[in-house]
Amino acid sequence: METVINIGYLVAAVLFILGIKGMTKPKTAVRGNQMSATGMLVAIIAALLDNNVVSYEYIIIGVLIGGAIGAFIAKKVAMTDMPELVAALNGIGGGASLLVASANYLESQKLAEMGQFVPTYDWSIAVILSILIGAVTLTGSFIAVGKLKGKIGDAKQVRLFKWIVKLSLAALLAGAAYFAAVDPVNSDLLIAGLIVLCLILGICLVMPIGGADMPVVVALLNSYSGLAGAAAGFVLGNNGLIITGSLVGASGIILTSIMCKAMNRSLTNVLFGGSMSESSGVSRSENDAFYEGKVKFSSADELAMLLDGAQNVVFVPGYGLAVAQAQHATRELAGMLEKQGAKVKYAIHPVAGRMPGHMNVLLAEAEVPYDQLVEMDAINPEFSQTDVAIVLGANDVVNPAAAEDPNSPIFGMPILDVHHAKTVVVVKRGLSPGFAGIPNELFIRDNSLMVAGDAKKVLQDTISALKDL
Ligand code: NDP
Repeated sequence: METVINIGYLVAAVLFILGIKGMTKPKTAVRGNQMSATGMLVAIIAALLDNNVVSYEYIIIGVLIGGAIGAFIAKKVAMTDMPELVAALNGIGGGASLLVASANYLESQKLAEMGQFVPTYDWSIAVILSILIGAVTLTGSFIAVGKLKGKIGDAKQVRLFKWIVKLSLAALLAGAAYFAAVDPVNSDLLIAGLIVLCLILGICLVMPIGGADMPVVVALLNSYSGLAGAAAGFVLGNNGLIITGSLVGASGIILTSIMCKAMNRSLTNVLFGGSMSESSGVSRSENDAFYEGKVKFSSADELAMLLDGAQNVVFVPGYGLAVAQAQHATRELAGMLEKQGAKVKYAIHPVAGRMPGHMNVLLAEAEVPYDQLVEMDAINPEFSQTDVAIVLGANDVVNPAAAEDPNSPIFGMPILDVHHAKTVVVVKRGLSPGFAGIPNELFIRDNSLMVAGDAKKVLQDTISALKDL
């Protein structure tokens, strides 16, 4: 039976890896997701075949309740709330590892008292890691949920939190070392103290980070939840959990690094730099003075006329497209342009929006054909042949200062070169800055026009105007 179970875990691992690979491209993402889900089913069945299972009844009740809640949430959640959901799931994963390892500790303690268990270093290290990382992930993730929901604001006491983090880390190291090396059996009080410390640490680690940086933090916490799960796998001697935990741990850290690179920021800057817009942004009056009298405002009617003769059109979606939920209107306008013979593409910046793949998911929801989604490096050389680039609620990812102004806080961040297009039409509600809090010279360039308004409304007006032409 053990061999069958391990083969089950191996099959699940292969399905997970193929699933992750599938999810790297929009075209294969759905199949990738299905493969991973099948992998999880195989892993669950393999785990249930284990003769250590105490009660199938409880497991079935748990699966039914958990599955129903999961299905309900997955159906109900809005695309823009996805980062919150992922953060909450990370927290629950961390909490599960904390509980599993704690239960195993208490049980092993009893067995040790009866002389039926002798703790090894491997076991005690796995137990302590699973408990500690799980606890940090639990509270850290729920603080991230609060920040993403806007219920918890950006902390002003950044220095204080940093001090608490440093002191807690030192205390944790000492406590964990004592547990693992000196007395892994009679340490309930020590473990309880360390759990409380880790719960506080999770809060203090995430509190000083700017709300808009939360997606990077969520990716990092995702990695932590994987590590806690892998450690729990060692505690239980469950190969499936070790493999899945390691996969989550590794992919979470890779995603964190991709996001940091695309924002041209170090992980240390994200974690300890405080709110980016606060530290680098300009004041409202400075922002207004920058644009004063220099922006050429246009209208949906004028945009329709421009598009009427355009051959090559590129839509550039950003965070504002998600806010406005303008993906369907974008697709409708694109469809009309294609009917009149224009070539339409969508330029996708790796950190456009507020979570990785945000734009791909939104546009996929509106059934935009996958082959029209073009990644930044592939589309940039094409902008010089583009008649009209329509920037929909994007700001930082099209700011030429990132390439041209060494003093800009976003200097070095790769951008979409929309300023090379023959005409750029920027659709946003006003002149507010984006996430980085800085003005955008694109909006005052000679080849730029701005249509002020909610992206969805402007697109709908443009569609009506185009129909009337
Ligand atoms: P930005 O945040 O730079 O700009 C979004 C713009 O959308 C704003 O300037 C806003 O202007 C406009 N907007 C808001 N609501 C609407 C609406 N209803 N209709 C039209 N426009 C609207 O977005 P980008 O996508 O260009 O850049 C993303 C930023 O987020 C980058 O700085 C990136 O580093 C950061 N980030 C991204 C992460 C990711 O994983 N994707 C993770 C963490 C950070 P106005 O109010 O005037 O309308």
